[in-house]
Amino acid sequence: MPQLAARTGRAKPSAIMQVAEKAKRLKAEGRDIISFSIGVPNFLPGPHVYAAAREALAHDSGQYGSNRGSDALLDAFIGHLDRIGLPGYTRAHCASGIGAKHILYTLAEVLLDEGDGFAFATPYWTTYLDIAEIVGADIRLLPCPPEQDYKLTPAQLDAALARKPKVFLFNNPSNPTGMVYTQAEIAALADVLVRHPDTWIVTDDIYNRMVFDGVGYHNVVQARPELRERTIFVDSLSKTYGMPGWRVGLLAGPENVAKAFATMNSNHITNVPEVVTAAAVAALSGPQDVPAAKCAEFQARRDQVMAALAQIPGVVCPKPAGAFYVFPDVSVAFGKSHGDTRIANDVDLCNALLEAKGVACVPGSAFGEPRALRISYTCPEAQLAPGLDRIREFFAELT
Ligand code: PLP
Repeated sequence: MPQLAARTGRAKPSAIMQVAEKAKRLKAEGRDIISFSIGVPNFLPGPHVYAAAREALAHDSGQYGSNRGSDALLDAFIGHLDRIGLPGYTRAHCASGIGAKHILYTLAEVLLDEGDGFAFATPYWTTYLDIAEIVGADIRLLPCPPEQDYKLTPAQLDAALARKPKVFLFNNPSNPTGMVYTQAEIAALADVLVRHPDTWIVTDDIYNRMVFDGVGYHNVVQARPELRERTIFVDSLSKTYGMPGWRVGLLAGPENVAKAFATMNSNHITNVPEVVTAAAVAALSGPQDVPAAKCAEFQARRDQVMAALAQIPGVVCPKPAGAFYVFPDVSVAFGKSHGDTRIANDVDLCNALLEAKGVACVPGSAFGEPRALRISYTCPEAQLAPGLDRIREFFAELT
């Protein structure tokens, strides 16, 4: 019997999807379930996006498109880059793909050979680890515990880069922690990065329009423009524009990287489909009121979640300033019991919370931080307060 390739054994099924599936199953059995598990936006794109897609359908030539992405899409993205403070990119610096996940996976193929060092902070978005495993990288995790607000320090980065990883992947705002680096923090990290010229920098900043409290979105290339020659900025329409299923991701970086990426596309996906491209152009270049309104709503929800968590003795949570996640340290519950259920770790805790209270959260170990759990607060408005009440009740019942 022939065997599957070894890399298939290195990719694990998504822990987030497993929780979501279990929640779905319990719901189908008639249980009252509130899901704080998957990070899906709770809104749809504006009507202009659907109108553009319908218009494209009416005229769709059905032909293959450009491997890099249509000129219209690249131009709309360049306009978006301008708006978020990253001017000066041209079509030659940009490319598109099937969501940021596909962009990141393909970038790993473009930048990393087997055994090359690949550094990123913990907690990390789960897929980083899987991509690193699949491509056979030498994974270098940089632990950023809650005690340092889940943020990478310049000294930590300096030490990691001294070992010359081929790629340093940076995520801001962060999934799962929601933390956002301030302008001063970005500048300090950028100063370190310029001292280590052998490392590519990938900034996965797909939540760049979801930043609260006036912190603003900042990128290392703004602080130190010389980093542009080895920094690749990754973006996506999934979260900002409420378009996760449309599958559009984009990158801006050095010309040779964008070109190599397009060559990979020519052998993988060929192109982002034409109808989807039309919708993406409309989202990027049309009215921007939906992302702005959602950002304000998510800031209010963040406050609601933080206020609820503050009422649970022993639960510690650095205050997020972006995305739509909160990542509390819940280790105070470990070693306790809920009814007859003993809670040894984050997985036990999430299982017990789901079984006892019908609330689905994702165990922190899925993101490399087993002391925490992730709450995604994009559920329907009517579910947020009851879901938080149930979490409070659950902790109060621990013995
Ligand atoms: N990067 C981060 C940090 C994410 O949280 C996600 C999705 O959850 C992605 C990338 C992938 O986004 P996309 O839907 O564009 O593939």
